[in-house]
Amino acid sequence: MVTIALTGGIGSGKTTIAQRLAELGGVILDADVFAREAVAFGTPAVRRIADRFGRDVLLPDGSLDRPALGALVFGDEEARAALNDIVHPEVRRLTGARLDEVLADDPNALVVHVIPLLVESRSNYDYEEIWVADAPAAVREERLVEGRGMTQAEARARIAAQASDEERRRIADVLIDTSAPLDETLEQVDGEWRRLAAAALRAPETQTYGV
Ligand code: ATP
Repeated sequence: MVTIALTGGIGSGKTTIAQRLAELGGVILDADVFAREAVAFGTPAVRRIADRFGRDVLLPDGSLDRPALGALVFGDEEARAALNDIVHPEVRRLTGARLDEVLADDPNALVVHVIPLLVESRSNYDYEEIWVADAPAAVREERLVEGRGMTQAEARARIAAQASDEERRRIADVLIDTSAPLDETLEQVDGEWRRLAAAALRAPETQTYGV
C-alpha cells in the first residue's frame, strides 16, 4: 500500500483532483470526513469537549454546535490546542482503522489521503508523496465568489485563515496547477498518477502511511 497526501487551500481543486484519482483506481480517504466522524453524536470526544468547553457548545439534542465551538476557539491558541488534543487522537484512530481495512482488502492499494489542513496541523508528513493543488489565492477567491456565493470579504477571510500558498508549496513533492484550464489539470493528474503507479509496481514492498 502506498499513501500519498493531497492538500491545497480552500477552492484549490482538491475535490476535483480526488474524483479523478478515484476514477483512476485510487482509494480516497478524506480527513474532513474522519474529523466529522470523530465528533459525531454521542461519541466520547463530544462528551470530553463539553466537559472542557461547557454545555454551550452543545445543541439541545446533545450534538456538537460546531459554529459555537468554532467561535470559542477562534483566535485562542490554548483553546484550539485543547480541542485538537481531544479530536486528533480520535481522527488518527479512525484513519488507522480505515487504512487497515484498505490494506487487508488490497495490499497494493494506492491511497490518496485528502488533508486540507496538512500544513496547519503540523503533520509529520509521513507520506510517500505530498501533492498540492495549487492556484493563486486570487483565482481561488474568484471561484469562491462566483461558484459558492460567498462575498469577497468572506472568501478573503477564509483564505487568510489558512496557511499561505507559499507554505504549502514548500512541502509539495508534486504541484498540481489548478489555475490551468480543467482538462490540462486533469492531464497533469493522469500523468502523475501513471508515474506513481509505475513506481509502486517496481517497489511492491513499499508500505507507508502516516496519520
Ligand atoms: P474546498 O477546500 O472548499 O473543499 P476544493 O479544494 O475541494 O475546495 P473543489 O471543490 O474541487 O476545490 O473546487 C474547485 C472549483 O474550481 C471547482 O468548481 C472546479 O470545477 C473549478 N476549477 C476550474 N478549473 C479548475 C482546475 N484547473 N482544476 C481544478 N478545479 C478547477
